[in-house]
Amino acid sequence: MTVYLVGAGPGDPGLITVRGAELLRRADVVVHDRLSARALLDLAPDGALRIDVGKRPGQSSTQTDINDLLVEHGRRARTVVRLKGGDPFVFARGGEEAAHLEAAGVPYEVVPGITSAIAVPAYAGIPVTRRYSSTSFTVVTGHEDPSKGVDAVDWRAIAHAGGTIVVLMGVAHIEKIAAQLMAGGLPPETPVAAVRWGTTPRQHTVRATLATIASLPLEPPATIVVGEVAAEPLGWFEGRPLFGTTVVNPRAREQASDLTALLEAQGAHVVEMATFSIEDPADGGAALRAAVEGLDRYDWVVLTSANAARRFLDAVGDGRRLAGVRLAAIGPGTAGVLEDRFLHPDLVPPSYVAESLVEVFPDAPRHHGRVLLPRAAVARDVVPDGLRDKGWEVDVVDAYRNVTVEPDERTLDAVRSADAVMFTASSTVRRFLELAGRDAVPPCIVTIGPITAGSARDEGLDVTIEASDHSMQGMVDALISWRRSGPDRR
Ligand code: SAH
Repeated sequence: MTVYLVGAGPGDPGLITVRGAELLRRADVVVHDRLSARALLDLAPDGALRIDVGKRPGQSSTQTDINDLLVEHGRRARTVVRLKGGDPFVFARGGEEAAHLEAAGVPYEVVPGITSAIAVPAYAGIPVTRRYSSTSFTVVTGHEDPSKGVDAVDWRAIAHAGGTIVVLMGVAHIEKIAAQLMAGGLPPETPVAAVRWGTTPRQHTVRATLATIASLPLEPPATIVVGEVAAEPLGWFEGRPLFGTTVVNPRAREQASDLTALLEAQGAHVVEMATFSIEDPADGGAALRAAVEGLDRYDWVVLTSANAARRFLDAVGDGRRLAGVRLAAIGPGTAGVLEDRFLHPDLVPPSYVAESLVEVFPDAPRHHGRVLLPRAAVARDVVPDGLRDKGWEVDVVDAYRNVTVEPDERTLDAVRSADAVMFTASSTVRRFLELAGRDAVPPCIVTIGPITAGSARDEGLDVTIEASDHSMQGMVDALISWRRSGPDRR
């Protein structure tokens, strides 16, 4: 029975505090604003009640409604998270909510957040202080009409104070604000930066001066920085190689995606589209378990996907059972699953495709060796056929099934406006077209290698990039080079 007033940070979901994330993970009720990041809301348990107080049918809730709602749920639920943008006590009425809870006798705690007043400038490369020249910063609301009476902000005094001025909610009144600051003595050439959607993939920075800022098109939400530091040219965030590029990653529903992490590290905005889920094979895994029981009959286990590797190792259980058997992995992703469990593959082909694996695989010794191939229920026969040609007896065992799942409308909308799509397998190409349709295919099509590219072409797609290093990192590198080669592709 506690209401936690939690700061969500300015937009980038990674900027919530550890404590805030912990509370979200065990929340019974989450009361949030309209702009709360979906990734943060997804942290809450599936069954948690999520209440959007920024967007109710008809009109948005009043502060009184929100206060009452917090008291009501605070009395009933164990953990109520009131998620607020930035810091809950910086222009966010968190103080009023806390006072209301206190008066009602409902226990509450405050979890501070990273405020946009500092973090948004930081993501635009602007430090709010600088030794000797910018020795203070003033955070001020631009919401009040500067021409209004006594309650309005004293802009002239703020101009006098010197240092950096950070204006939140200032877009609507920027013309008057700039005029008042100049009237207060700031030179017209004082640098100004307006950062919209800071810390998110949509971040956009407009640089100007006090004299020019009002003539430029600005839109909320923006943080406006006035002062010498606003001219700092540190573009670390917007300057990353894939910043401004929206990339679709069609993937399995239940897996954390390595590809997404690699893309985000380069600044891309990734739309994850769950196209299938990985489920038990038709026999519930009986054949795989039986094969594992008789593991000592095999010379090699060949793993052609990370999922096969996971399913196989789960069935094995105790790693010591693998003592007498050699392991082949098709590529670094699959090898990584083995390495995670302290197993080093005996063979990884130079090119991460089935044909290459067959080529470098040894011939069977005269006594006829045996290979176990646990894999997806539907797959190409290049590996089993190729290994049989080399004299091996090959047992193909279904380790899992890929089952199609329907994406939601919101995801499909995001897919339709994306710049690129990453295809890591032929099956994904077909599934993507089935689920999203041909019209949704983004302009840039990236494939992991020749097989997937061939399948995409068979489907009539115009493949833009075929990664020469057939790995996820290879795809990301290829996308970066492609972006670099075309200045007008953003
Ligand atoms: N409590 C919040 C501020 C709420 S006032 C905090 O500590 O950050 C809302 C204002 O914050 C917006 O009008 C805008 O000026 C600023 N703001 C919030 N998120 C922002 C973002 N992602 N980019 C730019 N400005 C943002």
